Amino acid sequence: MDRPRTIARVEVFPVRLPMIRSFTFASGSAGAAGGTAPHVFVRLTDSEGAVGWGEGRPVPQWSYETLETIATTIRHYLGPAIVGLPVTDRWGLHRRMQAAIGRGPSTGQPIAKAAVDLALHDLCARAAGLPLRAYLGGGADRDSVALSYTVTAHDPAAAGEEAAQARAEGFRHFNFKVAVAPHTDVAVARAVREAAGPEAFVWADANQGFLLHEARAVARGLAEAGADVLEQPLAADRPHLLRELRRDCPLPLAVDEASVGPADFFGYAAEGSVDYLVVKVTRSGGVWPTLQQIAVAESAGLPLLVSGLTDGLLTKLAVCQVAAAFGFAGPAALNGSQFTDESALFPDKAAFEAAGTVHLGDRPGIGVQPDVGALEALAAKFDVN
Ligand SMILES: [Mg+2]
Repeated sequence: MDRPRTIARVEVFPVRLPMIRSFTFASGSAGAAGGTAPHVFVRLTDSEGAVGWGEGRPVPQWSYETLETIATTIRHYLGPAIVGLPVTDRWGLHRRMQAAIGRGPSTGQPIAKAAVDLALHDLCARAAGLPLRAYLGGGADRDSVALSYTVTAHDPAAAGEEAAQARAEGFRHFNFKVAVAPHTDVAVARAVREAAGPEAFVWADANQGFLLHEARAVARGLAEAGADVLEQPLAADRPHLLRELRRDCPLPLAVDEASVGPADFFGYAAEGSVDYLVVKVTRSGGVWPTLQQIAVAESAGLPLLVSGLTDGLLTKLAVCQVAAAFGFAGPAALNGSQFTDESALFPDKAAFEAAGTVHLGDRPGIGVQPDVGALEALAAKFDVN
């Protein structure tokens, strides 16, 4: 047998991209219009000179990672740990990453690990000459995913207008944040459902913002207003509260922050606390652990939803490739385009995302990579060592 191709080089490009719209949720903010959003791009090169690209988008108030920690974790710990690894060995990739940066009760630097994992999956699929969804075992003909529009207003009239405008642009599904202005939650749900129409999937996300009695009350109101699911109503580290809510909750439930890997999702699925797996590749440490979470959901008979952390186009396409491999066509709350201007890095973005739909195309790998010259120019502005 020929010597296997191995990982030869790991490069990190930390950048900040312009925010074009403010985004607030119960546990914090992804940034404000006029500010910037941190993104860290990763380029892996193998022993034959083939490359793969990954991306991490830290939201420190959502998880605990920052531009600096992702860049230094990959540069000084994860990168050196994986040089020399055969490129197809994604099981070994995660073993080595866990050996370098271990886990506590959760994955440990999941967004940094996901950026590396995405890059290796991109490299492998490109080397195989297959779109990532086909490399993962799916059909290349399932090539589009419907997005969910993230309604940001917390005033019912404004939320309704926002949803109506997004619907006119082509969006068919809608998610919104509750527990930010709790007295308007039910009225906002009603306004969004009215604007979205009866066919839309309407999705309320509390980002851990409620106490148990509040969640009980709002769940009843949201159900009556026509919401389809309530995501992460309660603190992520208090699963007993979710069990209590479940006893008399009229609304389907999902967990997000509380489901960082296959083992915890297995726990929620086994005790019957949830109705969906929220696929969030970056939170879960990459494609490889996400495949295991999806296997748990499949075994439990639970359907998928897809969400993100205002990720960029590269991550969005990667996540849609993973979901499409399992027949998922939407809704995916991968809403980075609403909030971040990444035109400098992806000038051909409109070919991949238009009218509320992601089009995956037929290119090998994830299907898109940042403009390297533009990325290097942006990254040169940051002295992150
Ligand atoms: Mg969420």
